[in-house]
Amino acid sequence: MPTPYEGFGSLVFNEDEMKDRLPGPVYDSWEKTVANEGTLDRPTADAIAHAMKRWAMEQGVTHFTHWFQPMTGGTAEKHDAFLEPDEQGEPIARFSGKMLIKGEPDASSFPSGGLRATFEARGYTYWDVTSPVFIKENVLCIPTIFVSYNGEALDKKEPLLKSLEVLSTSATRLVNLFGDKEVKSCNISVGLEQEYFLIDRKYFDQRLDLKLTGRTLFGASAAKRQELDDHYFGAIPTKVQSFMTDVNQQLWKLGIYAKTEHNEAAPAQFELAPIFCKGNIAVDQNQVTMDILRKTAEKHGLACLLHEKPFNGINGSGKHNNYSIITDNGQNLFDPGKKPADNIRFLTFICAFIQAVDEYPVLLRMSASCTGNDHRLGALEAPPAIISIFLGSYIEDILYSLYQDHPSQKKGKTEDKDDFNPVAGLSYIPHDNTDRNRTSPVAFTGNKFEFRMLGSSMSASFANTVLNCIMAQSLNAISDQLDGIKYLQDVREKALEICRNLIHEHKRILFSGDGYSEAWVKEAKRRGLPNVPSFIESVEILKDKKVIDLFTSLGVYTEKELEANRKIMEEQYDRTMDIEVRTLIEMCRKDVLPAMSAEYNFYGEAAKNGGKDAPKFLSKRMSQLSELIDNVYAATEKMTVLWKEANSSEDDFETGKKIYYTVAPQMEVLRKYIDRYEEIASRQFYHMPLYEEMLFNI
Ligand code: ADP
Ligand code: MG
Repeated sequence: MPTPYEGFGSLVFNEDEMKDRLPGPVYDSWEKTVANEGTLDRPTADAIAHAMKRWAMEQGVTHFTHWFQPMTGGTAEKHDAFLEPDEQGEPIARFSGKMLIKGEPDASSFPSGGLRATFEARGYTYWDVTSPVFIKENVLCIPTIFVSYNGEALDKKEPLLKSLEVLSTSATRLVNLFGDKEVKSCNISVGLEQEYFLIDRKYFDQRLDLKLTGRTLFGASAAKRQELDDHYFGAIPTKVQSFMTDVNQQLWKLGIYAKTEHNEAAPAQFELAPIFCKGNIAVDQNQVTMDILRKTAEKHGLACLLHEKPFNGINGSGKHNNYSIITDNGQNLFDPGKKPADNIRFLTFICAFIQAVDEYPVLLRMSASCTGNDHRLGALEAPPAIISIFLGSYIEDILYSLYQDHPSQKKGKTEDKDDFNPVAGLSYIPHDNTDRNRTSPVAFTGNKFEFRMLGSSMSASFANTVLNCIMAQSLNAISDQLDGIKYLQDVREKALEICRNLIHEHKRILFSGDGYSEAWVKEAKRRGLPNVPSFIESVEILKDKKVIDLFTSLGVYTEKELEANRKIMEEQYDRTMDIEVRTLIEMCRKDVLPAMSAEYNFYGEAAKNGGKDAPKFLSKRMSQLSELIDNVYAATEKMTVLWKEANSSEDDFETGKKIYYTVAPQMEVLRKYIDRYEEIASRQFYHMPLYEEMLFNI
C-alpha cells in the first residue's frame, strides 16, 4: 500500500532528480554553481534545461515561467509554452539553457520606485540556482531574481540572497576565530508559522470589503467572541480538516514539510507550520504555501483570509519567523552546545543578536509592517510595536551574572583548555527552553529566535534580509576585536569581555514582562526605546543615515534601491487605504444606507397603521434609526472630505500620514455607527453576512 507521504517532492526538480537525469560533469558543474564556486556555461545550462523539460513534460507540464517576487511583496509569473514550430512547421517542445537562465518579462508595469525610467523599462529575471524548480498547476516554475537594465534589484529576492552571503561570511569568520576552522560557510534556518482565517465562500462572495480589501470594514461583534478560548487547539472542523489534508498533500508533493496544523486563538483561525529549512527556500515556500491556501480554499467552498486583521475585536494573524544560524557542518550557532567552551561562542552570538536588534529596532519593526499589520502592531494585541527581546529567565540570569561579576583576568594562562568555563551554570543550558512569553515581539525559544511581528500576508523576504544584515554587522564588529589574538583562551576571555560590554550597552532591549501593558509603553519610553505607531511612519527609517550605511557598506542595497523601496511602500499604503475608503463609501451607499432607510420605512408604516395605539417600540426604533442614518451619512461625508484633503498633497508620505491620522480614525467612527445599526438590524432588510455567521459557521 502506498504511504500517505508517497510522492513527497515529486513536483520538485530536486537534487536527487538532477543526479538521476544529468550526466555527471553537468551535475557537478551545477553543484559548484550553487556553492558559489563557479558559473554555468552554455552547454551545461542547455543540458540542465533539456533534462528539466523532459522531467516536466512527463508530468503533463506544457508551460514554464520565471517566478519572481516584485517589490510589492507578492509573486509574479508569465507563462510561456514550450511549444514552437520546427523547420517543417511541425510542433516541437523547446526549452534552452538561455530560456532557463534569463528572461525578459514585459514588466514595465511592475513598480520600480523610479529605478527604471520608461525609456529603459527593461527588467531581467535570472535563475536563482539556490532554490529548486517546481511544478505548480502544470507550469514549470523557475525561481528567479528580477533586476533592472542597470543591475539594480527590482525584487525582494536578490537582496535576500546578497544578505545571506554577507551573513555567511561574517558568521564563518567569527566561528573560525573561535578555533573551528572546519567551517567554510553558514546559512540561516527559517521556519515560518502561517496564521489564516477560513470562512464559508458564500459569505466572502457577499462582502465587497472582503473581496476588495481582505478585511471586514465593519461588522458588529458576535455575541460570542474568543473569550472562552475554546477554539484554540480544539477539534478541527470536518470541512477544515479535508481542506487541510488537501493543502498538505499539495505541499508535500512540492517538497514542503508541512508539519503542524491547529486551530488558533480566534474562532475560524488556523495555523500551518512547516519544518524549518534554508532561509531563501523557506521564504519561497511560504509564498507558494499562501498561494495554495487561497486556491485550495476556493476548491472547498471556503475563502482563506490572509489579511492581518479580517475581523475587529478578535485576534489578527501573523507569521512567526523562527530564525537561527547554522554552519555548513550542521552546528546551530544559537544552540548552547555540549562543550562548555562552545557556550562562550553561543553567548557571543546571542549578544551579537541583542546588539543588532537594539541598534536597529525601527528597521526591524518596519520589516514586519504593512498596511494591514497596523491593526495588530501596537493595537493591544500580539505583538506590540515596541521592539524588545525576551530571552527566558535561564539565559537572562546567565547574562546578568556575566555582566555583574568581573572574573579576575587570568593573565599568563594561554594554553587551550576545553573545560575553560569562567561562568558558572553555562556548561549546560537546557534545550527545551520552552518558557514562553507570547507578548514579546522577539523571543529566544531554545535554539532560535522567534520574530513574531510579521504580518500574515507578507513576504518574509525583507525581514530576513534585515535580520541577516544587522546580525552580520554585529558579528563583524566582534570579529574585528578578536582578530589577531593568538591564543584561543585569550580569544574566549576577550569574547566574554565583549559580551559583558554588549549587555551593559544593550540591556534596555531585554524585557520579559507583559508586552501589551500600558506600563511597558511607559517603561520602554523611559528606556529610550522607539515606539513608532504606524507602518507609514516606520518606512521613513529607510532614509536614516545609519540604515543606509548599514545596507550600503554590506553591499546589500544601494541608496537608490532603498529609496525605491521606500517610495513603493508609501505608495502601497496610500493605494491600499484608497481602496478601503472607496469600498466603505460604496458599501454605505449601496448596502447600508438603503437597508437602514427601508427599515425605517417599515417601522414608519407599522406605526402609521397602528395609529395612536401603536406600540411605543416602533417610534423608539424609528428615532434610533433616524439618528443612526444621519450619523452614518454625516460620517461618510466627513470621511470623504478628509480623504480628499489627505490626497491633496503630492507627497506620498505626507498623504499617508494624513490618512493614518485623520482618515483611518474617521473610518472607525463610521464603522461604529454601522456596527450599532447592525446590532439592531432586521435580517429582512440587512443582508450583509454577520460576524457570528462568518466566524461560527464553519
Ligand atoms: P510554536 O508554535 O510553539 O512557536 P512550532 O513548533 O509550531 O512552535 O513552530 C516552530 C517553528 O520553528 C517550526 O516551523 C519549526 O520547524 C521551526 N524551527 C525549529 N527549530 C528551528 C531552528 N533551529 N531554526 C529555525 N526554525 C526552527
Ligand atoms: Mg510560534
